[in-house]
Amino acid sequence: MSEVDYLALAGAGVQKLRPYEPGKPVEALERELGISDIIKLASNENPLGPSAAVDAAIAAASQDLARYPDGSGFALKAALAANLEVDTAQITLGNGSNDVLELMARVFLAPGRNAVCSAHAFAVYPLATLAAGAELREVPALAADAAQAYGHDLNAFADYIDDNTGLVFIANPNNPTGTWVDPDALQALLKRVPKRVLVILDEAYCEYQDQSQRPDAVALMREHENLVVTRTFSKVYGLAALRIGYALSNPQVADLLNRVRQPFNNNALALAAAQAALQDQAHVAASVALNDEGMAYFHDSLPALGLSILPSQANFVCVDFARPAQPIYQALLRQGVIVRPLDGYKLPQHLRITIGTPDENRRCVEALKTVLAE
Ligand SMILES: *Cc1c(COP(=O)(O)O)cnc(C)c1O
Repeated sequence: MSEVDYLALAGAGVQKLRPYEPGKPVEALERELGISDIIKLASNENPLGPSAAVDAAIAAASQDLARYPDGSGFALKAALAANLEVDTAQITLGNGSNDVLELMARVFLAPGRNAVCSAHAFAVYPLATLAAGAELREVPALAADAAQAYGHDLNAFADYIDDNTGLVFIANPNNPTGTWVDPDALQALLKRVPKRVLVILDEAYCEYQDQSQRPDAVALMREHENLVVTRTFSKVYGLAALRIGYALSNPQVADLLNRVRQPFNNNALALAAAQAALQDQAHVAASVALNDEGMAYFHDSLPALGLSILPSQANFVCVDFARPAQPIYQALLRQGVIVRPLDGYKLPQHLRITIGTPDENRRCVEALKTVLAE
């Protein structure tokens, strides 16, 4: 036993934190159950992996590992700026978009301040908020029988914002529900939120959305200087292992984020890979098409098993088992199928299943059939 209670010395917010629970790695399940031929549909990764162009970019970048990476991310920012029609001064690169979410919390939150997000929203929002010593204000989600079941109730957000609010987090589509927000409701909220409150629109899954129902975030930023958009190369671009994402914001906010970020928060391989991945939009389109196919398959197969799916425009489905889902999760593990339990998201009767390859999807449905018959 240590002589000092270090927990008591930690910041008040940190004392309340639980570590982020990642999806179970394939290797961990192999070790635990001694089984092989495992499929992982637990972390919303791209089952196709990254663009083939990424290999060559990484090979080239790995010739120079003794050198520090370009701390300004010049080439990647230039490519993003051209693609998105924004100025490079509006871009902040992060070690994953998690990193930029944390930077936002570090810059705009502090003890005595608060952040607003929806119930059942992405776990990093509470983590970043509490780690910064701020209070989290959770807006109740839409009802289970609403069109966007368990989704963000944007009309209610403004009621939770007060003089001490620094940040508002909106995940569109949201993880773990898959639900999305109505562009008009987002526009209306932005009109109501005071400009001193930064609104973060987290678009980690935006490429998978029905583009006709997606807000034009860059256009909205021109109207609302307090809007910050975050995106990632971890999902449709298939680069989760490399940790790279970015924020778009007004230049002054980007300057503040750059003051607090680590000088070399993006490694050289990630910078090169992201740039190559960005150029291959055909791979993005192929990944989205495969996802659409898998989404249709789950919508055909799961209701036949008596299961319902929350509305989703992402690369996963949030499945309602109408009973405690933890035993089902455990039984699926024994079948070699890793999905994501959602007790931490206060959805103990749901499991989140990432859409995989057609083979993986079939195996998952077969495993579900077996498990539900047990
Ligand atoms: C996966 C995810 C992210 C991105 O994480 P990275 O740090 O970029 O890997 C951000 N927001 C949401 C809602 C996510 O699900």
